[in-house]
Amino acid sequence: MAEHHTAIVVGGGQSGLATAYYLQRFKVDFLVLDNHEEPGGAWLHAWPSLTLFSAAGFSNLPGWPMPQYPGYPPASHVIDYLENYERRYDLPVRRPVHVRSVSHEGGMFYLDSTAGQFTAEHVVAATGTWSAPFVPHYPGTFHGRQWHSSTYPGPEPFRGAKVAVVGGANSGAQIAADLIGTSEVTWFTLEPPRWMPDDVDGRDLFLRSRRRILGGDSGPNLGDIVALPHLRELRNSGQLTATPIFDSLSELDHDHLIWCTGFRPALGPFRHLMHGRETAVKNLHLVGYGNWTGDGSATLMGVGPFAKHTAQVIAGRVDELSASLAQPAGRSKSR
Ligand SMILES: Cc1cc2nc3c(=O)[nH]c(=O)nc-3n(C[C@H](O)[C@H](O)[C@H](O)COP(=O)(O)OP(=O)(O)OC[C@H]3O[C@@H](n4cnc5c(N)ncnc54)[C@H](O)[C@@H]3O)c2cc1C
Repeated sequence: MAEHHTAIVVGGGQSGLATAYYLQRFKVDFLVLDNHEEPGGAWLHAWPSLTLFSAAGFSNLPGWPMPQYPGYPPASHVIDYLENYERRYDLPVRRPVHVRSVSHEGGMFYLDSTAGQFTAEHVVAATGTWSAPFVPHYPGTFHGRQWHSSTYPGPEPFRGAKVAVVGGANSGAQIAADLIGTSEVTWFTLEPPRWMPDDVDGRDLFLRSRRRILGGDSGPNLGDIVALPHLRELRNSGQLTATPIFDSLSELDHDHLIWCTGFRPALGPFRHLMHGRETAVKNLHLVGYGNWTGDGSATLMGVGPFAKHTAQVIAGRVDELSASLAQPAGRSKSR
Protein backbone atom coordinates (compact mmCIF):
# COMPACT_ATOMS: atom_id res chain seq x y z
CA MET A 1 0.00 0.00 0.00
CA ALA A 2 1.29 3.44 -0.89
CA GLU A 3 1.35 6.11 1.83
CA HIS A 4 -0.71 9.12 0.75
CA HIS A 5 -0.27 12.84 1.48
CA THR A 6 -1.76 15.93 -0.13
CA ALA A 7 1.77 17.21 -0.80
CA ILE A 8 5.18 15.59 -0.75
CA VAL A 9 8.31 17.72 -0.67
CA VAL A 10 11.35 15.92 -2.10
CA GLY A 11 14.48 17.34 -0.43
CA GLY A 12 14.91 18.47 3.17
CA GLY A 13 17.57 21.18 2.79
CA GLN A 14 16.85 24.86 3.40
CA SER A 15 14.41 25.09 0.43
CA GLY A 16 12.42 22.03 1.51
CA LEU A 17 12.25 23.25 5.13
CA ALA A 18 11.12 26.76 4.14
CA THR A 19 8.36 25.21 2.01
CA ALA A 20 7.43 22.87 4.87
CA TYR A 21 7.15 25.85 7.22
CA TYR A 22 4.52 27.49 5.04
CA LEU A 23 2.68 24.25 4.19
CA GLN A 24 2.31 23.70 7.93
CA ARG A 25 1.06 27.26 8.46
CA PHE A 26 -1.48 26.84 5.67
CA LYS A 27 -2.60 23.53 7.22
CA VAL A 28 -1.79 21.35 4.24
CA ASP A 29 -1.19 17.65 4.96
CA PHE A 30 2.40 17.00 3.79
CA LEU A 31 5.59 15.01 4.24
CA VAL A 32 9.23 15.83 3.43
CA LEU A 33 11.48 13.05 2.10
CA ASP A 34 15.23 13.60 2.26
CA ASN A 35 18.00 11.20 1.31
CA HIS A 36 20.58 12.33 3.88
CA GLU A 37 20.98 10.59 7.24
CA GLU A 38 20.87 13.97 9.04
CA PRO A 39 19.53 17.51 8.56
CA GLY A 40 21.65 20.09 6.70
CA GLY A 41 21.27 19.38 2.97
CA ALA A 42 24.22 20.59 0.89
CA TRP A 43 25.83 22.22 3.93
CA LEU A 44 26.80 18.75 5.17
CA HIS A 45 29.32 18.62 2.32
CA ALA A 46 30.93 22.04 2.74
CA TRP A 47 34.73 22.13 2.90
CA PRO A 48 36.15 22.89 6.36
CA SER A 49 36.96 26.58 5.79
CA LEU A 50 33.71 27.49 3.97
CA THR A 51 31.76 30.27 5.63
CA LEU A 52 28.54 32.00 4.66
CA PHE A 53 29.08 35.24 2.78
CA SER A 54 26.38 36.88 4.83
CA ALA A 55 26.23 37.50 8.55
CA ALA A 56 23.76 35.44 10.60
CA GLY A 57 21.25 38.31 10.66
CA PHE A 58 20.93 38.06 6.86
CA SER A 59 20.68 34.28 6.66
CA ASN A 60 17.22 33.69 8.08
CA LEU A 61 14.64 31.18 7.03
CA PRO A 62 10.99 32.22 7.50
CA GLY A 63 9.72 32.37 11.07
CA TRP A 64 12.85 31.90 13.17
CA PRO A 65 16.07 33.90 12.71
CA MET A 66 19.46 32.23 12.57
CA PRO A 67 21.13 32.49 16.01
CA GLN A 68 23.80 35.18 16.22
CA TYR A 69 27.40 34.39 15.26
CA PRO A 70 30.37 36.77 15.33
CA GLY A 71 31.49 37.39 11.72
CA TYR A 72 30.62 35.01 8.90
CA PRO A 73 29.11 31.74 10.19
CA PRO A 74 30.71 28.41 9.20
CA ALA A 75 28.70 25.56 7.65
CA SER A 76 28.38 23.85 11.06
CA HIS A 77 26.39 26.85 12.31
CA VAL A 78 24.00 26.53 9.35
CA ILE A 79 23.61 22.77 9.94
CA ASP A 80 22.76 23.35 13.63
CA TYR A 81 20.29 26.04 12.58
CA LEU A 82 18.56 23.78 10.04
CA GLU A 83 18.40 20.92 12.55
CA ASN A 84 16.92 23.16 15.26
CA TYR A 85 14.55 24.80 12.78
CA GLU A 86 13.17 21.41 11.82
CA ARG A 87 12.76 20.47 15.49
CA ARG A 88 11.32 23.81 16.55
CA TYR A 89 8.41 23.53 14.11
CA ASP A 90 8.18 19.75 14.41
CA LEU A 91 8.35 19.48 10.64
CA PRO A 92 7.57 15.97 9.33
CA VAL A 93 10.84 15.05 7.61
CA ARG A 94 11.63 11.41 6.94
CA ARG A 95 15.28 10.32 6.49
CA PRO A 96 17.09 8.77 4.84
CA VAL A 97 14.63 8.28 1.99
CA HIS A 98 15.84 8.53 -1.59
CA VAL A 99 13.13 9.19 -4.18
CA ARG A 100 14.10 7.10 -7.18
CA SER A 101 11.32 8.06 -9.60
CA VAL A 102 8.16 10.10 -9.83
CA SER A 103 5.33 9.42 -12.27
CA HIS A 104 2.05 11.21 -12.83
CA GLU A 105 -1.24 9.70 -13.86
CA GLY A 106 -4.86 10.78 -13.51
CA GLY A 107 -3.98 13.83 -11.41
CA MET A 108 -1.95 11.79 -8.92
CA PHE A 109 1.82 11.57 -8.40
CA TYR A 110 3.35 8.16 -7.69
CA LEU A 111 6.73 8.21 -5.94
CA ASP A 112 8.98 5.20 -5.77
CA SER A 113 11.54 5.48 -2.95
CA THR A 114 13.94 3.50 -0.82
CA ALA A 115 11.21 3.57 1.89
CA GLY A 116 8.45 2.27 -0.38
CA GLN A 117 5.70 3.89 -2.44
CA PHE A 118 4.05 7.26 -1.83
CA THR A 119 1.20 9.07 -3.58
CA ALA A 120 0.38 12.77 -3.53
CA GLU A 121 -1.74 15.35 -5.37
CA HIS A 122 1.16 17.83 -5.21
CA VAL A 123 4.91 17.31 -5.37
CA VAL A 124 7.47 19.96 -4.54
CA ALA A 125 10.95 19.38 -5.98
CA ALA A 126 13.47 20.93 -3.55
CA THR A 127 16.40 18.68 -4.40
CA GLY A 128 18.98 21.46 -4.77
CA THR A 129 22.02 21.17 -6.99
CA TRP A 130 24.74 19.59 -4.86
CA SER A 131 24.17 16.06 -6.23
CA ALA A 132 24.49 17.28 -9.84
CA PRO A 133 28.01 18.75 -10.15
CA PHE A 134 28.85 20.17 -13.57
CA VAL A 135 32.21 19.62 -15.30
CA PRO A 136 32.77 21.18 -18.73
CA HIS A 137 34.37 19.19 -21.52
CA TYR A 138 37.95 20.03 -22.54
CA PRO A 139 39.98 18.10 -25.09
CA GLY A 140 43.15 16.29 -24.10
CA THR A 141 44.09 14.12 -21.14
CA PHE A 142 44.85 15.08 -17.56
CA HIS A 143 47.22 12.66 -15.87
CA GLY A 144 46.69 13.68 -12.24
CA ARG A 145 43.65 13.32 -10.00
CA GLN A 146 40.44 15.23 -10.74
CA TRP A 147 38.04 16.63 -8.13
CA HIS A 148 34.94 18.80 -8.06
CA SER A 149 34.32 21.54 -5.49
CA SER A 150 31.39 19.43 -4.22
CA THR A 151 33.87 16.94 -2.77
CA TYR A 152 36.78 19.29 -1.96
CA PRO A 153 38.01 18.04 1.43
CA GLY A 154 40.11 21.06 2.51
CA PRO A 155 43.83 21.69 1.82
CA GLU A 156 45.51 18.78 3.66
CA PRO A 157 45.49 16.09 0.92
CA PHE A 158 47.10 18.65 -1.44
CA ARG A 159 50.04 19.57 0.78
CA GLY A 160 53.18 20.17 -1.31
CA ALA A 161 51.41 19.29 -4.58
CA LYS A 162 50.84 21.29 -7.74
CA VAL A 163 47.12 22.06 -8.02
CA ALA A 164 45.03 23.56 -10.85
CA VAL A 165 41.79 25.19 -9.69
CA VAL A 166 39.31 25.94 -12.47
CA GLY A 167 36.45 28.40 -12.11
CA GLY A 168 36.06 32.16 -11.80
CA ALA A 169 33.19 32.36 -9.34
CA ASN A 170 32.97 32.15 -5.55
CA SER A 171 33.91 28.50 -5.07
CA GLY A 172 36.94 28.80 -7.40
CA ALA A 173 38.21 31.90 -5.60
CA GLN A 174 37.58 30.42 -2.16
CA ILE A 175 39.24 27.07 -2.89
CA ALA A 176 42.24 28.67 -4.64
CA ALA A 177 42.63 30.94 -1.59
CA ASP A 178 42.25 27.98 0.76
CA LEU A 179 45.16 26.17 -0.93
CA ILE A 180 47.58 29.09 -0.96
CA GLY A 181 50.39 28.33 1.48
CA THR A 182 49.79 24.57 1.37
CA SER A 183 50.32 23.84 -2.30
CA GLU A 184 51.45 25.43 -5.55
CA VAL A 185 48.16 26.75 -6.98
CA THR A 186 47.23 27.93 -10.46
CA TRP A 187 43.78 29.50 -10.59
CA PHE A 188 42.36 29.18 -14.12
CA THR A 189 39.39 31.31 -15.15
CA LEU A 190 37.55 31.71 -18.46
CA GLU A 191 37.51 35.49 -18.11
CA PRO A 192 39.24 37.84 -15.68
CA PRO A 193 37.52 37.35 -12.29
CA ARG A 194 34.74 39.81 -11.51
CA TRP A 195 34.80 40.93 -7.90
CA MET A 196 31.94 42.47 -6.00
CA PRO A 197 32.80 45.88 -4.57
CA ASP A 198 34.71 45.30 -1.33
CA ASP A 199 31.89 46.64 0.83
CA VAL A 200 29.31 44.21 -0.61
CA ASP A 201 28.57 41.07 1.38
CA GLY A 202 25.59 38.76 1.71
CA ARG A 203 23.47 41.51 3.24
CA ASP A 204 23.83 43.69 0.16
CA LEU A 205 23.41 40.68 -2.09
CA PHE A 206 20.09 40.01 -0.47
CA LEU A 207 18.92 43.62 -0.76
CA ARG A 208 20.09 43.84 -4.38
CA SER A 209 18.37 40.60 -5.32
CA ARG A 210 15.13 41.94 -3.78
CA ARG A 211 15.47 45.16 -5.79
CA ARG A 212 16.21 43.17 -8.94
CA ILE A 213 13.03 41.14 -8.44
CA LEU A 214 11.13 44.39 -8.06
CA GLY A 215 12.48 45.43 -11.45
CA GLY A 216 15.22 47.96 -10.70
CA ASP A 217 18.92 47.72 -9.89
CA SER A 218 21.35 46.45 -12.45
CA GLY A 219 24.22 46.36 -9.93
CA PRO A 220 26.83 43.60 -9.60
CA ASN A 221 25.90 40.18 -10.88
CA LEU A 222 24.95 37.76 -8.10
CA GLY A 223 27.60 35.36 -9.44
CA ASP A 224 30.46 37.83 -8.93
CA ILE A 225 32.99 36.96 -6.25
CA VAL A 226 32.23 38.23 -2.78
CA ALA A 227 35.42 39.88 -1.50
CA LEU A 228 35.44 38.23 1.93
CA PRO A 229 38.20 39.76 4.11
CA HIS A 230 40.74 36.91 3.73
CA LEU A 231 40.19 36.76 -0.07
CA ARG A 232 40.60 40.51 -0.35
CA GLU A 233 43.89 40.31 1.54
CA LEU A 234 45.28 37.57 -0.75
CA ARG A 235 44.06 39.39 -3.86
CA ASN A 236 45.52 42.73 -2.79
CA SER A 237 48.89 41.19 -1.90
CA GLY A 238 49.06 39.62 -5.38
CA GLN A 239 48.90 36.03 -4.09
CA LEU A 240 45.44 35.32 -5.52
CA THR A 241 45.70 36.02 -9.24
CA ALA A 242 43.97 34.32 -12.14
CA THR A 243 45.49 32.68 -15.23
CA PRO A 244 43.54 32.46 -18.53
CA ILE A 245 42.01 29.03 -19.04
CA PHE A 246 43.94 26.35 -21.01
CA ASP A 247 42.86 25.03 -24.42
CA SER A 248 43.59 21.40 -23.65
CA LEU A 249 43.95 19.31 -20.50
CA SER A 250 47.17 17.93 -21.97
CA GLU A 251 48.83 21.33 -21.31
CA LEU A 252 48.61 20.76 -17.55
CA ASP A 253 51.41 19.19 -15.55
CA HIS A 254 49.61 19.51 -12.21
CA ASP A 255 49.10 16.70 -9.69
CA HIS A 256 45.46 17.66 -9.05
CA LEU A 257 42.72 19.47 -10.93
CA ILE A 258 39.76 20.84 -8.97
CA TRP A 259 36.73 21.81 -11.06
CA CYS A 260 34.86 24.69 -9.43
CA THR A 261 32.49 24.90 -12.33
CA GLY A 262 29.14 24.81 -10.63
CA PHE A 263 26.13 22.59 -10.55
CA ARG A 264 22.91 21.85 -12.38
CA PRO A 265 19.48 21.36 -10.78
CA ALA A 266 19.30 17.80 -9.42
CA LEU A 267 16.02 17.03 -11.15
CA GLY A 268 16.71 13.40 -12.09
CA PRO A 269 13.42 11.91 -10.82
CA PHE A 270 11.40 14.78 -12.35
CA ARG A 271 13.19 15.30 -15.65
CA HIS A 272 10.53 13.55 -17.74
CA LEU A 273 7.86 15.75 -16.13
CA MET A 274 9.57 18.94 -17.33
CA HIS A 275 9.74 20.88 -20.60
CA GLY A 276 13.11 22.58 -20.29
CA ARG A 277 12.83 24.77 -17.22
CA GLU A 278 9.03 24.58 -17.01
CA THR A 279 7.07 21.88 -15.25
CA ALA A 280 4.99 19.96 -17.81
CA VAL A 281 2.34 18.72 -15.37
CA LYS A 282 0.07 20.65 -13.05
CA ASN A 283 0.87 20.48 -9.33
CA LEU A 284 4.59 19.80 -9.74
CA HIS A 285 6.34 22.74 -8.08
CA LEU A 286 10.03 23.71 -7.97
CA VAL A 287 11.61 25.58 -5.03
CA GLY A 288 15.26 26.66 -4.79
CA TYR A 289 17.69 26.15 -7.73
CA GLY A 290 18.82 29.81 -7.91
CA ASN A 291 18.29 31.70 -11.15
CA TRP A 292 16.46 28.74 -12.61
CA THR A 293 13.41 29.52 -10.50
CA GLY A 294 14.12 33.02 -9.19
CA ASP A 295 16.84 35.42 -8.15
CA GLY A 296 18.16 34.51 -4.68
CA SER A 297 16.03 31.36 -4.35
CA ALA A 298 19.10 29.22 -3.54
CA THR A 299 19.96 31.30 -0.49
CA LEU A 300 18.70 31.00 3.07
CA MET A 301 17.27 34.50 3.13
CA GLY A 302 16.04 34.50 -0.45
CA VAL A 303 14.09 31.24 -0.56
CA GLY A 304 11.28 32.39 1.76
CA PRO A 305 9.07 34.26 -0.76
CA PHE A 306 9.33 31.40 -3.28
CA ALA A 307 8.48 28.81 -0.61
CA LYS A 308 5.54 30.90 0.56
CA HIS A 309 4.18 31.37 -2.96
CA THR A 310 4.39 27.62 -3.63
CA ALA A 311 2.64 26.72 -0.37
CA GLN A 312 -0.03 29.34 -1.10
CA VAL A 313 -0.68 27.88 -4.55
CA ILE A 314 -0.96 24.37 -3.09
CA ALA A 315 -3.27 25.48 -0.26
CA GLY A 316 -5.41 27.46 -2.75
CA ARG A 317 -5.82 24.46 -5.04
CA VAL A 318 -6.66 22.19 -2.09
CA ASP A 319 -9.40 24.66 -1.04
CA GLU A 320 -10.75 24.87 -4.61
CA LEU A 321 -10.92 21.11 -4.83
CA SER A 322 -12.69 20.78 -1.46
CA ALA A 323 -15.18 23.48 -2.47
CA SER A 324 -15.96 21.78 -5.77
CA LEU A 325 -16.39 18.40 -4.07
CA ALA A 326 -18.71 19.95 -1.47
CA GLN A 327 -21.06 21.32 -4.16
CA PRO A 328 -24.17 19.29 -5.00
CA ALA A 329 -23.52 17.39 -8.27
CA GLY A 330 -26.31 19.22 -10.21
CA ARG A 331 -24.99 22.70 -9.45
CA SER A 332 -21.57 22.31 -10.96
CA LYS A 333 -23.12 20.87 -14.15
CA SER A 334 -25.52 23.80 -14.56
CA ARG A 335 -22.65 26.38 -14.45
C1 LIG B 1 30.75 28.34 -2.24
C2 LIG B 1 29.32 28.47 -1.84
C3 LIG B 1 28.94 29.43 -0.92
C4 LIG B 1 27.59 29.60 -0.55
N1 LIG B 1 27.28 30.55 0.34
C5 LIG B 1 26.00 30.77 0.68
C6 LIG B 1 25.64 31.79 1.61
O1 LIG B 1 26.47 32.51 2.13
N2 LIG B 1 24.34 31.96 1.91
C7 LIG B 1 23.36 31.17 1.38
O2 LIG B 1 22.19 31.35 1.70
N3 LIG B 1 23.67 30.20 0.48
C8 LIG B 1 24.95 29.98 0.11
N4 LIG B 1 25.27 29.01 -0.78
C9 LIG B 1 24.18 28.26 -1.43
C10 LIG B 1 23.70 27.07 -0.64
O3 LIG B 1 24.77 26.28 -0.17
C11 LIG B 1 22.85 26.14 -1.50
O4 LIG B 1 22.35 26.83 -2.59
C12 LIG B 1 21.71 25.62 -0.66
O5 LIG B 1 22.21 24.58 0.16
C13 LIG B 1 20.55 25.11 -1.50
O6 LIG B 1 19.55 24.65 -0.63
P1 LIG B 1 18.47 23.62 -1.15
O7 LIG B 1 17.62 23.26 0.00
O8 LIG B 1 17.82 24.15 -2.36
O9 LIG B 1 19.34 22.37 -1.64
P2 LIG B 1 20.21 21.36 -0.73
O10 LIG B 1 20.78 22.03 0.45
O11 LIG B 1 21.10 20.65 -1.67
O12 LIG B 1 19.08 20.35 -0.20
C14 LIG B 1 18.44 19.44 -1.07
C15 LIG B 1 18.24 18.14 -0.32
O13 LIG B 1 17.52 17.24 -1.16
C16 LIG B 1 18.15 15.97 -1.12
N5 LIG B 1 17.80 15.22 -2.34
C17 LIG B 1 18.24 15.42 -3.61
N6 LIG B 1 17.71 14.52 -4.45
C18 LIG B 1 16.90 13.73 -3.70
C19 LIG B 1 16.06 12.60 -3.99
N7 LIG B 1 15.94 12.11 -5.24
N8 LIG B 1 15.35 12.03 -2.97
C20 LIG B 1 15.44 12.53 -1.71
N9 LIG B 1 16.23 13.59 -1.37
C21 LIG B 1 16.93 14.18 -2.35
C22 LIG B 1 19.63 16.35 -1.04
O14 LIG B 1 20.43 15.26 -0.67
C23 LIG B 1 19.56 17.44 0.01
O15 LIG B 1 19.54 16.94 1.31
C24 LIG B 1 26.59 28.79 -1.15
C25 LIG B 1 26.95 27.81 -2.06
C26 LIG B 1 28.29 27.65 -2.41
C27 LIG B 1 28.66 26.57 -3.42
